[in-house]
Amino acid sequence: MINFENNLAFAQAMDAADPLKAMRDEYLFPQQNGQPFIYLCGNSLGLQPKIAKEVLNEQLNNWQNLAVEGWFEGDKPWMFYHKELKKLMAPIVGASELEVCPMNTLTVNLHLLMVSFYRPTQKRFKIIMEAGAFPSDQYAIESQVRFHGYDPKEAIIEVAPKSGAYTLATADILEAIQTNGEEIALVLFGGINYFTGQLFDMEAITKTGHEVGAIVGFDLAHAAGNVPLQLHDWNVDFACWCSYKYQNAGPGGISGVFVHQKHFGNQDIPRFAGWWGYQEKNRFLMEKGFVPEAGADGWQVSCTQVMPMALYHASLKLFEKIGFMEPLRNKSKTLTAYLFYIINEVNNELGEEQFKIITPPNENERGAQVSIIAKSNGKQIFDHLVKNNVLGDWREPNVIRLSPVPMYNSFKDVFKTGELLLSVGKSLNND
Ligand SMILES: *Cc1c(COP(=O)(O)O)cnc(C)c1O
Repeated sequence: MINFENNLAFAQAMDAADPLKAMRDEYLFPQQNGQPFIYLCGNSLGLQPKIAKEVLNEQLNNWQNLAVEGWFEGDKPWMFYHKELKKLMAPIVGASELEVCPMNTLTVNLHLLMVSFYRPTQKRFKIIMEAGAFPSDQYAIESQVRFHGYDPKEAIIEVAPKSGAYTLATADILEAIQTNGEEIALVLFGGINYFTGQLFDMEAITKTGHEVGAIVGFDLAHAAGNVPLQLHDWNVDFACWCSYKYQNAGPGGISGVFVHQKHFGNQDIPRFAGWWGYQEKNRFLMEKGFVPEAGADGWQVSCTQVMPMALYHASLKLFEKIGFMEPLRNKSKTLTAYLFYIINEVNNELGEEQFKIITPPNENERGAQVSIIAKSNGKQIFDHLVKNNVLGDWREPNVIRLSPVPMYNSFKDVFKTGELLLSVGKSLNND
């Protein structure tokens, strides 16, 4: 345990000792008034890697020089380009290469995977999820339930925090699964909740879900690239994530899917098919009757989205460079703990809890993000932060999310944010 200090020299010493300190220079920071932002919004849109232009340009050049022949010619034929990404995606989510594939966008993949893995029967038709899930997930799940002819009010069980709490107790999640056991077709949770930053115990949820006979899937939008995952070993049935948050692949970036190997031999799994999911070696025979490619690739629908994949590829190379998730998580635990410490210091100095942290303080129950609720004037405080070059984000009705991302944020960033919170807090007190 490090004894944190609330001063610049301490933050700078932490940065000097940071094994990932050089990575900051691999990314482009947005500017305001000629100064780079202290960017704490990687939970929403990760920063652009400097190599993104170059890697994207390679593919623009291939398109220019090879045009249609780019699918099979050149040093990275588009026909096989996704394989380069699969290799680099697998260690991020703890899967084999066969179990992951880049395709589509996140909510689209949620739908496609629910087509395969939400198969309600008269007796077992319910989906259990976290209350306050990201709206897209709520809409996707409701519409899937309706599509199968059920009423969302009856078919969706939301596990909510105890009254007065912001986050869920693992025991409550597991109990809800056990209590509704025989009626649950699917357990579908986020890996990390977007609002509170709570990291769920995916291994325990998966185990309990399986014990009652349900399928278990996760939306890893806020978890992939943020915390280490072991999807294969945890025996998770399926998962999907976006690449533009902690994985820095650009706005609207390609999504990734995971399907556990144990499902590969099962011919009964329904899917919405398309030609790109067809067996690769015979795809261009253009024959009638769908035969899926082995592994997660068999869930592909449309042809490879080369340009967004190039951006994801650029970003993944930087994850590879540092040895993937372990070094990131090591730094992240300390960096975010420092933000907790700094916010508490600010509150102490203000003599009241002006900034209430709703993210779990336990490092095993959170990732990089810290969500705070200001006692008063929340939106005004947030706007003040932005005006003074600290960019987090605001989530209705009252939360400021601040995410020091270990890939490119520094201890100095956190210290400086604290200085600004203190000054805005003081000015409120003087009003
Ligand atoms: C960011 C996020 C999304 C966004 O979905 P898109 O289809 O990429 O627009 C969906 N679900 C969760 C939980 C998210 O955090």
